[in-house]
Amino acid sequence: ERGRLARLLHTPAVTLDGQKIELLANIELPEDAPAAVAAGAVGVGLFRSEFLFMNRKGDLPGEDEQYEAYRRAVDGMQGLPVTIRTIDVGADKPLDETERDEAHLNPALGLRAIRWSLADPAMFLTQLRAILRAAAHGKVNLLVPMLAHVSEIRQTLSLLDFARAELDNRGTTYGPVQLGAMIEIPAAALTLRTFLKYFDFLSIGTNDLIQYTLAIDRDDESVAHLYDPLHPAVLQLVANTIAECNAQGKGVSVCGEMAGDTQMTRLLLGLGLRSFSMHPAQVLAVKQEVLRADTSRLRAWASDVLAAEEPVKLLG
Ligand code: PEP
Ligand code: MG
Repeated sequence: ERGRLARLLHTPAVTLDGQKIELLANIELPEDAPAAVAAGAVGVGLFRSEFLFMNRKGDLPGEDEQYEAYRRAVDGMQGLPVTIRTIDVGADKPLDETERDEAHLNPALGLRAIRWSLADPAMFLTQLRAILRAAAHGKVNLLVPMLAHVSEIRQTLSLLDFARAELDNRGTTYGPVQLGAMIEIPAAALTLRTFLKYFDFLSIGTNDLIQYTLAIDRDDESVAHLYDPLHPAVLQLVANTIAECNAQGKGVSVCGEMAGDTQMTRLLLGLGLRSFSMHPAQVLAVKQEVLRADTSRLRAWASDVLAAEEPVKLLG
């Protein structure tokens, strides 16, 4: 199977009805970039920058160290675009495993991701400057996790302006970035108009979107059987986000596990998704599904799946 898939490496990801599909990679460290290229990904759709910050015993990387790391990822992708997500750590993703804070009763609902960044503007500005500097070396998109409130969006945008002004004052070179938001809290998926007003593109984080929509801790084995990507409520939020972006000509991708699940490929295509970001190991298997798909026929079926009362069996 691996060998057969490998032959698809240089085959463009185009459906039977001629739709071009963008298959991107999720990476955790700059050193993962070559594997993403080798897997046939046409860019990085999610660079989880928090991995640069983890397990360092509180010694956070400074601007230069971050800049070098982001630049290595950009260089490693050989001219392909790289979407760098700002740090997503906090209560449920501790910087240090030894520092898991038992005081947070609901860590997934606590100070994490953009909330954590906005609580420490100096730290956040350091990261924003490093990303802007890396953008001088290739096509870089900046992606912000866990937004729910317009006030968070505005604070983020003004800190980004401030970071640019700091670089201007220092005479430091930086490049342009496209700005994106993760849609991974139901509140965000239900206020798309606001997000589409402020952002160039959206990326759907289904791992958290499922967790928050269904009130299922994504790390809790005892409720894992209820963590259902096919729950009609989840699908509706995903479908709406895709449809709104498509209607407004804004880029939209899915970067949660759903994007790399070959059983979900046809459904996501039927819902109008044209950009998928996944673990590099999944790219060719998803491409195989894309090559066999006819989106003109999947559309009506996807609407039926959406309208179903209970999760539909996808195989067959
Ligand atoms: C997600 O929530 O789907 C996502 C891609 O982000 P993470 O898994 O890093 O929380
Ligand atoms: Mg997430």
